[in-house]
Amino acid sequence: MSLISNEISGYMSKASFIRKMFERGIELKKQFGAENVYDFSLGNPDLPPPREVAAELRNIADDLDQAFALGYMPNPGYPETREATAQAISKDQGVDVPASNVILTCGAAGAINAFFRAVLEPGDEIICPAPYFVEYGFYAGNNGGILKPAMAKDFTFELDLDAIAAQFSDKTRVMFINSPNNPTGVIYSREELEALVSLVRKHSEKIGREIYLLSDEPYRFLNYDGSEIPSVLELYEYSVIATSWSKSLSMAGERVGCLVVNPAMPEGDKLLGAVTLTNRILGFVNAPAIGQKILGKVIESQVDVNIYHERRDAMAAVLDEAGIEYSMPRGAFYFFPKSPLADDFKFCDILLSENILAVPGSGFGCPGYIRLTFCVGSAEAIRKSGPAFKRAMQKINDME
Ligand code: PLP
Repeated sequence: MSLISNEISGYMSKASFIRKMFERGIELKKQFGAENVYDFSLGNPDLPPPREVAAELRNIADDLDQAFALGYMPNPGYPETREATAQAISKDQGVDVPASNVILTCGAAGAINAFFRAVLEPGDEIICPAPYFVEYGFYAGNNGGILKPAMAKDFTFELDLDAIAAQFSDKTRVMFINSPNNPTGVIYSREELEALVSLVRKHSEKIGREIYLLSDEPYRFLNYDGSEIPSVLELYEYSVIATSWSKSLSMAGERVGCLVVNPAMPEGDKLLGAVTLTNRILGFVNAPAIGQKILGKVIESQVDVNIYHERRDAMAAVLDEAGIEYSMPRGAFYFFPKSPLADDFKFCDILLSENILAVPGSGFGCPGYIRLTFCVGSAEAIRKSGPAFKRAMQKINDME
């Protein structure tokens, strides 16, 4: 007898290392004090939301004595928030996006799920560069799809077009990218994206149906070196963007994001209608009312990116000192260094013995690496972890 489906039981046992790490972290913090545990495991933005968010929340509270103040709304979202969002996205992407092409969703995760539900036939395939955000596989599975990872180039994490080409089949429905990337911090160049689009076009013609290019962009605002982040809307008419304000406004728990359908997409209205429906029937109904009301008024604000920039540089200095190899992240708030041991789980265990919490690269479809998040703590806390990293590396050198 079993209470749980085989599929979910399988997911749960795969996620057990991360759970173990999380539980161990709580124990360590109790034992040694939170300030003596270096927790680089979670992608939960720790900066407070910009002040404008609190001010808007007060305005909303003062305005609740009206019918439907927090009631159901049109499924794609409040018209005024869609309008504000469309304007901000048009400016950011350099492409005119009308409000009708923006559907507000429960975070980027909700946008991706609603999109997959709208376009996938059972068994359709989604190609995505590895390493990748682990939940992509679950989102594909939720909606009858299969994720087909294509390993990125060793250590630069640029797109490996040959590896991607090898994954195309007559079931390919979506090419899925994430730039700036979780977990590598890579930002894809215009040249890479143009080459990718030409591959997608060629294959789309071959199989006789549209292959979408889905770009997941919640980290677009975290671009440390001023690199160009080209808009997929300019490059390919069958492109869609999933994004959110989880990170830029530190509102991950308030669940506001959106799906943008390229205004140049032939018959894009059909896709917009479908996603409006799937957003509803997946149980989301609409993005949260309070989050939407806040967003509509504060969309031009964001957390202080300089704080993340300083932390990135502090983390790089710690890794340099410890002799841990990495490729400098150009965006997002993660490092994806090489594990000095082939077994990335073992390396995480050794780090844990020095009170450092990291996640094995295997969890992102890329064994032999680890992920460190720098959206937890402070630059000072990161610097303080330096001796612990050095001791962990010494333990490894002593093993050899
Ligand atoms: N995509 C990536 C790459 C992420 O890292 C995350 C969250 O960490 C999400 C999507 C989901 O974000 P949201 O909170 O907007 O649903």
